[in-house]
Amino acid sequence: MTRTVYVNGNYLPETEAKISIFDRGFLMADGVYEVTSVLDGKLIDFDAHAKRLRRSLDELDMASPVTMDELLAIHRELVLQNKVEEGLVYLQITRGAPADRDFAFPDPETVPSSLVLFTQNKPGLADSPVARVGIKVISIEDIRWGRRDIKTIQLLYPSMGKMIAKKAGADDAWMIQDGHVTEGTSNNAYIVKGRKIITRPRSNDILHGITRAAVLRFAKEAQMEIEERRFTIDEAKEADEAFITSASTFVMPVVEIDGVALGDGTPGKVAPRLREIYLEESREAAIWQSERGQAALATLPLPARKYKSTAPDTAARQTILPKSGKLSSLSRIVRISQNRLYSNVMAARNIAMWLAQFRTVDIAASGYWRNRFLIAVWTQAKLGTNTISAAIDPLIRLFITPVNSESSDLGHQISIRWKERLTTFAAQISMVVIRNA
Ligand code: PMP
Repeated sequence: MTRTVYVNGNYLPETEAKISIFDRGFLMADGVYEVTSVLDGKLIDFDAHAKRLRRSLDELDMASPVTMDELLAIHRELVLQNKVEEGLVYLQITRGAPADRDFAFPDPETVPSSLVLFTQNKPGLADSPVARVGIKVISIEDIRWGRRDIKTIQLLYPSMGKMIAKKAGADDAWMIQDGHVTEGTSNNAYIVKGRKIITRPRSNDILHGITRAAVLRFAKEAQMEIEERRFTIDEAKEADEAFITSASTFVMPVVEIDGVALGDGTPGKVAPRLREIYLEESREAAIWQSERGQAALATLPLPARKYKSTAPDTAARQTILPKSGKLSSLSRIVRISQNRLYSNVMAARNIAMWLAQFRTVDIAASGYWRNRFLIAVWTQAKLGTNTISAAIDPLIRLFITPVNSESSDLGHQISIRWKERLTTFAAQISMVVIRNA
C-alpha cells in the first residue's frame, strides 16, 4: 500500500509528493522536526511535541505554516488514512524554498515554510522483543553543535554514530563530552544505581526528550528516586542498570556499554518496570486526546448496563468493559496525580450514584488506581463532547478536592443548583462511565 503523505497543504500518495531542490531543508538542513508515536491508533503526548516544536521554531526564528490545532488535525488524518495502529508520525518544517541558494534567511513574507508529514507503520512497537533483551551501546565523542536542545534536522553525526555502533557490533552510541555522557544518538540516556535513576539535567547540551519528561514524572509518582546530574561513562559502566528513552523506543534497557556488561547482562528491574508504566500511562493519557474526536475511539467496547461501585478494584476494568459494542466519543478524563483523598472517593461515588439513578445512564463507577484518581466519562449520545465537558467540568471542580487542600466531605454537598444541572445533563446522555482505570 502506498502511504498518503502531507506536503504543504495537500494529502498525496507518497510517490507524488514533491519538494523543491531549493528547499533550505535539503540544501542547508535548515529545518526542525518532531516524531510522535502512535499506540492503539492514538497519538502519544501530542501536546508536548507541539510545544517543543513551537520552541524549536521560535529559537530559529522560523514561522509555522499552520497552527498547532491544524497540525493535530493533520496528524489525525494521516493516522486514519494510513490505518496506523502502532507506529510514528514524522513532521518536518523547513525555512521553505527561495528562488535560489543563499546563506541569508529568505523573507518569511514571500517564502513560506515547508511542511511535510508522513506516517511509519511499526506493528509490535510496544511489545518489542528487543526490549526484553536490551541493547548494547558504545561511547563516541559528542562533536555536535552547541544547540542540541533545538530539534533540528541536522542528523548527520547521529547517523554516523549509529553506523560506528553497528560496525562495532553494538546497537547505538552514547555521546561523551568532557568525559560525561550527553545522550544517545536519538534518545536520552540514564543509569540506575541501587534504586536511584540518574540522568543528565536539561540544558543546551541535550534534546529535552518528551519521553524523558513523561518517564521522570511517572518515576516520581511511583516513588522512585531521581537524580538529575551529569554522569561519566566510567560511572555508567559500573551502574546496576542503564536505559534510553525516546518516542520510538519508549523505555529501552541498555545491557552493555563499551563491551562491559551491566549487572548480569540482562535488563534489570527498574527499566522494564518503567517501560511498563510508561506504556500503560501513555495509553491512558492518549484516550484523553481522543476527546477531540479521534476515530480510533469508535472501536472501544461498550460497557455493560450496570452500576459498578467504587472499590479500588483492578477488576473494575474488565467489569465495565465487556466484549461487544462501540462508543462514539469520550468526553472527559480527569487525572489528579497523588490525590488519595478519601473525600474524593466519596465525591466520585456520589457523582456516580447520582448519575446512575437516571434511566439513561448505563454505568457509573469510580475509584483509584496507582496513585491516580481518574474520572472518565464516555457517551454514546449525539451530544457534542463540548456539551458534555461543559456539564462535567463544573462537577469535577465542585466535587474533586485538589491535592493538599483541606479534605472535607464534598461528596455530600450536592447543591440544589447542581442537582438541576445534573438532572438536565443526565437526562440527555445515553451513558456515563466514571471508571476506575
Ligand atoms: N535525544 C536526541 C538526540 C534525539 O534525537 C531524541 C529523539 N528524537 C531524543 C533525545 C528523545 O526525544 P523524544 O523522547 O522526544 O523522542
